Amino acid sequence: RIVYVNGGFLPEASASLSIFDRGVLFADAVYEVTAVIDGGLVDFDAHQRRLRRSLAELGIDFDPEEAGLLDIHRELIHRNDLREGLVYLQISRGVADRSFLQPTNAQPSVILFTQAQSLLDTPAAESGLSIITQPDKRWHRRDIKTTQLLYPSMMKTLADERGAHDVWMVEGGHVTEGSSSNAHIITADGSLVTRPISQDILHGITRAAVLDYTRETGAGVVERAFTVAEAQGAREAFITSATAFVTPVTAIDGVPIGDGHPGPATRRIRAHYIDHSRSRLQY
Ligand code: PMP
Repeated sequence: RIVYVNGGFLPEASASLSIFDRGVLFADAVYEVTAVIDGGLVDFDAHQRRLRRSLAELGIDFDPEEAGLLDIHRELIHRNDLREGLVYLQISRGVADRSFLQPTNAQPSVILFTQAQSLLDTPAAESGLSIITQPDKRWHRRDIKTTQLLYPSMMKTLADERGAHDVWMVEGGHVTEGSSSNAHIITADGSLVTRPISQDILHGITRAAVLDYTRETGAGVVERAFTVAEAQGAREAFITSATAFVTPVTAIDGVPIGDGHPGPATRRIRAHYIDHSRSRLQY
């Protein structure tokens, strides 16, 4: 693979980052993951807007547009001949001697790499995900997309050990989100119910696109928190993320959702999300 580090494209084996990088020592870094299908980027502008916001919230002085991030994404897709998969981008505050006090004049470090991966035809899209619930023990600025991913990574591993696919995290009796996705349900009246954006969850790009589409179709969208019991009794449930798109959830803590198979609303939303994304890929 050819990767990108601080201004240069090079083979992954030759790429390096300082051991004093703030991303390595403090997870003082933000990231984005953008899907690639048919060799084109999905919703790049929205990812760049969220990146800009994450950087501003942490006071990392870096301008994505000035840095030409779109061209770097394109070049990396081209050099790796990537048709389907993702581009990972990470920006840290930069390199400084280890101190809790943040440096004021560090030069942000920028790394990007691609991962080839099937996104369109996946077993999970066909058969659905089995979810377990766990307390949400992350920090309280989940709206900033930082690389502090230890807890979600532990939760994903726990799910795997228990024979499930993923975790939905719960706080104050309500579902916050998945380990790396937003959580949604379809209630008995056909409405899409999903937690409103706040500092409690990541403002998912896929979530926003799906809500727009669902509103356009005239189906109800209710932004409110829901409990695990409500999700278990829902007609359908699903997750959204840049790489999972819209993926059905068919069991929560062992309780089947609906008839235990992916439902029609989820299938329709997934198909539409993919069609819509395909029609506006960025090359
Ligand atoms: N929540 C969390 C915690 C995530 O890590 C992700 C994926 N990065 C999402 C939600 C989904 O966001 P997006 O649709 O922008 O990928």
